[in-house]
Amino acid sequence: MKKTIILLLVGLALVVLVQDFLQNKKKAQPVAPRPYVVMLSLDGFRWDYQDKAPTPTLDSITKYGVKATGLQPSFPSKTFPNHYSIVTGLYPGNHELISNSFYAPDIKQYYSIRDRSKVENGKFYKGEPIWVTAEAQRVKTGSYFWVGSEAKIKGYQPTYWKLYDHKFPYYQRVDSIINWLNKPYSERPKLITWYLDKADGVGHKHGPDSKELANTIPMLDSVIGYFLQQTNMLDIKDSINFIIVSDHGMQTIDTQKVVYLDSYIKPQWVDTLIGSNPFYLVQPNEDFKDSILTSLLGVEGINAWAKEDIPEKFHFKQSKRVPEILVVAKNGWSLTANSKHKVYAGGTHGYDNTIPDMNGIFYAIGPNFKNGYNAGQLYNTDIYNLIAHILEIKAAPNDGKKEQIFHVLKQ
Ligand code: AMP
Ligand code: ZN
Ligand code: ZN
Repeated sequence: MKKTIILLLVGLALVVLVQDFLQNKKKAQPVAPRPYVVMLSLDGFRWDYQDKAPTPTLDSITKYGVKATGLQPSFPSKTFPNHYSIVTGLYPGNHELISNSFYAPDIKQYYSIRDRSKVENGKFYKGEPIWVTAEAQRVKTGSYFWVGSEAKIKGYQPTYWKLYDHKFPYYQRVDSIINWLNKPYSERPKLITWYLDKADGVGHKHGPDSKELANTIPMLDSVIGYFLQQTNMLDIKDSINFIIVSDHGMQTIDTQKVVYLDSYIKPQWVDTLIGSNPFYLVQPNEDFKDSILTSLLGVEGINAWAKEDIPEKFHFKQSKRVPEILVVAKNGWSLTANSKHKVYAGGTHGYDNTIPDMNGIFYAIGPNFKNGYNAGQLYNTDIYNLIAHILEIKAAPNDGKKEQIFHVLKQ
């Protein structure tokens, strides 16, 4: 009888101990859970667009968060290379998505942003996008469009992703992102990227100083306002860091300043000539490299470089995908392969990335960011390290410099 009572008491004590252990385990969960990062890209949103129209949302982010005077793109200042630099921390010369269209001798295939089979082919994408870094460390991610998110890279893709659909309504994109953030904890993405194209399209068609462009800015500002309003209703609202970037700026085209490559280069000299205003990659036929370079030497409005002479500041020539000659128009000039091309007007980008109006934007607001902080000039290859730091994941090797961007963080 005594023995039974002792056994019962020991049993009870064990139950209490296990309960205590479980409760302590619950208590032992981190007090401040890993923060969230949501990053939006406004394609082609130039550094100074906030000043062109009423932007109540961007104004309040400026007041309570971080704003850079400019986000310098990497070279070339085109859409695909720069979106991919932002998420890998690598220069295009190192991640090797060297332009919107190019030939990749390493896999003997052409890439083009208009060819879905190429955009979705992971073999073109070198380096490690931040969502791959996260997923490999068991941190879930989502992407409502981003260059590279539609391909499996190093065996990973965001847990949630979408095939690019140019016309998909902006507010519905936000609704999907909010749904992702409303998922149960174990399914919820910690990092989300999304993308809105409009500022780029209107900037190309009408130019960065047009009234059409000025009218587009409040529309984008309202979408961002809607996103903030929706996130404010979430339980995790105080843990969300929201970053807004753009891939490049926009330059007004001078319609009188055009260079037609076929006025200088004979067809039989050229193996491949790939690009779009103002940036062309040229692979000469054997023995014609000098003919092309000599013919382009001193042509007003362009720079033509032999691969080995491409300026170091572009960090570009080390890629095997860069052919033997690069031709880039000077600021405000247009460059086209074909003299039958219609007149260029409106705006463009793709120039030397250090030209001031090629600068894009960087805004950030949330628990990890300073309040009312002017960050000065930032560089897009530094963002990868910043996000890895906030998400508490180990970054892959990259070209970013932490000291150039970590000052935006609260200490
Ligand atoms: P560009 O101004 O020529 O450098 O390229 C901008 C265009 O890229 C935009 O008009 C978008 O339609 C397009 N774009 C952006 N992301 C994607 C994507 N993931 N797949 C296909 N096209 C895209
Ligand atoms: Zn772009
Ligand atoms: Zn563009």
